[in-house]
Amino acid sequence: MKYALVTGGSRGIGRAVCVKLSRMGYHLLINYVSNADQANKTLELVRQEGQDGELLRFDVSDGRQTREALEAWLEAHPDDQVEVLVNNAGIRRDNIMALMPEEDWDRVLDITLKGFYHTTQALLPAMIRQKYGRIINMASVSGLKGLPGQCNYSAAKGGLITATKALAQEVARKRITVNAVAPGFIQTDMVEGLDEAALARTIPANRFGTPEEVAELVGFLASPMAGYITGDVISINGGLYT
Ligand code: NAP
Repeated sequence: MKYALVTGGSRGIGRAVCVKLSRMGYHLLINYVSNADQANKTLELVRQEGQDGELLRFDVSDGRQTREALEAWLEAHPDDQVEVLVNNAGIRRDNIMALMPEEDWDRVLDITLKGFYHTTQALLPAMIRQKYGRIINMASVSGLKGLPGQCNYSAAKGGLITATKALAQEVARKRITVNAVAPGFIQTDMVEGLDEAALARTIPANRFGTPEEVAELVGFLASPMAGYITGDVISINGGLYT
């Protein structure tokens, strides 16, 4: 059986990615950290697509939790493969640098960068053995351009982009591709509280994107057709920054 793991699959972009990958024939491992109801809703949507999946609760920033959850799953599924890993879990804790608490710096970097490390380390050996894999990391326009009020988030996403490029070169011969996706403003809980009308005027497309639009891009990168794209970062931002 072919599986895909989507971290932060309970809501927003992660949920849309789960639905897209289920349409592509994948069984879904839906990771979340606290929101069991929303994670179950994602599972319901996956089942509506005729696929199945399971919920895996762990905090991606916690190495022990992540390892235990994924090692237990791998042991219980010796004949199944996790072909696709989407490192999507993320948070923002915005503040100007002069006022940013150290814990907000650490939390954002830990979820993004240690999260990437923990999940990828757990699943990469099997991908290498299978000589096939797709790793897609959810970066951001902030990680390309740097945005004021987001030094922590920009550093985390910028680090994720360069880790993507480095890992891509390590594993390309094993037919594993590693790419990053860099969304601009996407309508999810993460942008709640922002002035959408005012911000939309700064975007050439004059609107926020949808999680489904991001999921289509992730789906293509996850597909066998995208086998010659690796080490890249692909923007999806309505022309905000290219
Ligand atoms: P969202 O709606 O706030 O959802 C965040 C997801 O991440 C939830 O499923 C949440 O799980 C999960 N999560 C948070 N901390 C976690 C942890 N420590 N361990 C495991 N899961 C964790 O966010 P979104 O907008 O869909 O964002 C998804 C990704 O896209 C993030 O990496 C974000 O930085 C990136 N992004 C978003 C935008 C945007 O405009 N929305 C733009 C650029 C990049 P629970 O439901 O259990 O809390």
